[in-house]
Amino acid sequence: IYILGIESSCDDTSAAVICNGKILSNVVANQEIHTKYGGVVPELASRAHQQNIVPVIQQAIQQANIDKKDLNAIAFTRGPGLMGSLLVGTSFAKSLSLALNIPLIAVNHMQGHVLAHFIDEENQQKPPFPFLCLTISGGHTQIVKITDYFTMEVIGETLDDAVGEAFDKSAKILGLPYPGGPLVDKYAKLGNPLAFKFTKPKMADLNFSFSGLKTGILYFIQKKVKENPNFIEENLNDICASIQYTIVEILFDKLKKAVEKTGINHVAIAGGVSANSEIRKVLKETEHKYGWTTYIPKFEYTTDNAGMIAITGYLKYLDNNFSKDTIIATARLKVNEQ
Ligand code: ATP
Ligand code: FE
Repeated sequence: IYILGIESSCDDTSAAVICNGKILSNVVANQEIHTKYGGVVPELASRAHQQNIVPVIQQAIQQANIDKKDLNAIAFTRGPGLMGSLLVGTSFAKSLSLALNIPLIAVNHMQGHVLAHFIDEENQQKPPFPFLCLTISGGHTQIVKITDYFTMEVIGETLDDAVGEAFDKSAKILGLPYPGGPLVDKYAKLGNPLAFKFTKPKMADLNFSFSGLKTGILYFIQKKVKENPNFIEENLNDICASIQYTIVEILFDKLKKAVEKTGINHVAIAGGVSANSEIRKVLKETEHKYGWTTYIPKFEYTTDNAGMIAITGYLKYLDNNFSKDTIIATARLKVNEQ
């Protein structure tokens, strides 16, 4: 079974071909245009998607070494995301399914992040049900209990900023370009995580909050720069390491609580922030420390990619879960919605 996956929810245009759970191609076109604006500009994103979508899909089909006539279904992201961006992928998927006369499968982007764990990869074990997934990305921070491919329950989530935003906004305060998350990760490798101390939020149950941390960092940096205009340059590695350390502590405090509360110790991470090297390392360490079994996605399936949409499409195909051609894109979609 060949499925084409199309992802266009934010600022990356991506297409992938999957054959019975194995990825044959996964092409991602990043949009450079947003860097100079310090964030994603929705109108520019949808225009770039329009320019990229045809070549990206052509490349995915070519790299998979198949003909488009071999495809059995088209899977696409219907939400959540930026409406203008989602519309490009949705319209294209609809027309292609009509032209090729093959079924259409709408995919929830957040389910895609989680279900990327079910892509067939060598040396990569798939999580057994039930498992917990810490879904951390540019727009989400959730602990999700997954009891079946499409049965997902959010047991904790952020009440304000997402963890990806915390990384990106901290980076912006430090004068780093967008998206700053990967740069904080890079500089943190060379710094002392205990150099500076930031206050962690006091949150009840399994919920998160990151807006206070962002403000704390802003005030701290403003104060230090007043004392020494070169403070950031002189301490960039230590600042990044300390910010990252605090974020990782916040995440793992809650994840530990979630494991204790549910008694489920199969734990996965997903979403763009799961590319973070420290988060991957700390999760791995819980195997020895707490006896968890952990699942870490391959790097290329962490940030937005169509491979995760294609695997979700394949699982839905096996489940006979197809979409009508009247299906519409939606900016908001909860992880338990189709
Ligand atoms: P959502 O999936 O919630 O709709 P999104 O699709 O925009 O949001 P993703 O592409 O899943 O988000 O993730 C992007 C985020 O991941 C950005 O905030 C980026 O800074 C962050 N990120 C990527 N790599 C790293 C890293 N190595 N360390 C920290 N953050 C990272
Ligand atoms: Fe995403």
